[in-house]
Amino acid sequence: MKKLIPVLIFLCSCEAWVKNDSRLYGVYISDDFSPQEQQEIYDGFVAWSIATDGEVFFERTNNKNTPNLLTVNLKQMPDDLAGFTYTGPNSTNATIDINVKVLEPDWRKNLKQLVSHEVGHALGLNHIGPGNIMCKDIACGNPKLTCEDVKQFCKVWDCDYKTKYVCQ
Ligand SMILES: [Zn+2]
Repeated sequence: MKKLIPVLIFLCSCEAWVKNDSRLYGVYISDDFSPQEQQEIYDGFVAWSIATDGEVFFERTNNKNTPNLLTVNLKQMPDDLAGFTYTGPNSTNATIDINVKVLEPDWRKNLKQLVSHEVGHALGLNHIGPGNIMCKDIACGNPKLTCEDVKQFCKVWDCDYKTKYVCQ
């Protein structure tokens, strides 16, 4: 049987997120994801807290009116598209749409990586070169956040990347 290898393209509005001074974000994850998937998705957020030594924090919530809210939804999307991130009209919140295909085994294993990539966009980051979370697709991406990712983060968020855990 011919095995199809999915080409996962991460897409974004590439519109910089308006900086949140409290650096605390609410995270609303759709019930369309199983509890285990929801945990993997949340891990994709927490990866940014760990890699940046706590420059940003993410707290799960069921309240859609939470300020600075990042919402994760499952959505029917074209096959070559894995995720899409866009900010709300007032830019105090953002939505991350994840392709329903991510629930299939071949895509599923990339769920956390995909979410970390999309969260990077929500934090105002653009695509960078191969071997990093913020590379444009799964083939050039990296399963974990790298020093280059954090370097870009610190440019937007005004911190010293050299002091951060992943850059040691
Ligand atoms: Zn992207």
